[in-house]
Amino acid sequence: MIKVTVYNEFVHEKKDEAVKAIYPNGIHRAIADFLESDDITVRTVTLDDPECGLTDDVLRDTDVLIWWGHLAHNLVPDEVAARVRDHVLMGMGLIVLHSGHHSKPFKLLMGTTCNVNWREDGDMERLWVCDPSHPICRGIGRYIELEHEEMYAEPFGIPEPEHLLFIGWYEGGEVFRSGATYRRGNGKIFYFQPGHESFPTYYNSDVQTVIRNAVHWAAPDLRVNELVCPHVKKIGS
Ligand code: ZN
Repeated sequence: MIKVTVYNEFVHEKKDEAVKAIYPNGIHRAIADFLESDDITVRTVTLDDPECGLTDDVLRDTDVLIWWGHLAHNLVPDEVAARVRDHVLMGMGLIVLHSGHHSKPFKLLMGTTCNVNWREDGDMERLWVCDPSHPICRGIGRYIELEHEEMYAEPFGIPEPEHLLFIGWYEGGEVFRSGATYRRGNGKIFYFQPGHESFPTYYNSDVQTVIRNAVHWAAPDLRVNELVCPHVKKIGS
């Protein structure tokens, strides 16, 4: 059983009627609804929870953390972001969705600006599969087509990915590294661009397949309980 925690800041869905109409119970519940299955159990937390719901106990009990945030990155306390980073380094998986590219934990783990060029006019997007052999791309054809998405374009201020899995192309002509993997310490990280709150992206079955695949991929191979730099004796002494 893989234990997933979905963090959603849960701001747009409470104050914007159009967003509420798409995600009446919040983006976190929409994601939980398609992930919950025989081998995945899901907990959801939001910005309003004490410590964003991301206490040390919760993170220790999380195999893969999924992060959706947009307006309220700055309201996530620095110590919560550092705690998430440390749990990734110890082995927890992290899936960062859409505007989570600017979240504190992702920027801490990348060490770069994570800035993008962007435009919010509902361009059609095709996400082209770059590596059909990768487990995250399993079950996807040559591309995923989304009728409307927020446009994110290069240059994307990320470090060179370990694997580039998707290139997003928009009808305006721009392209974006829309699916990229990293390893930091023992932890596996997947950034996946689709998921603007004004469009029903998380009901798209291909998007759901990618996120489900990513949960299985990001589940820890090795997890340690602390980050230490131990002094060791020479073998035989
Ligand atoms: Zn957006």
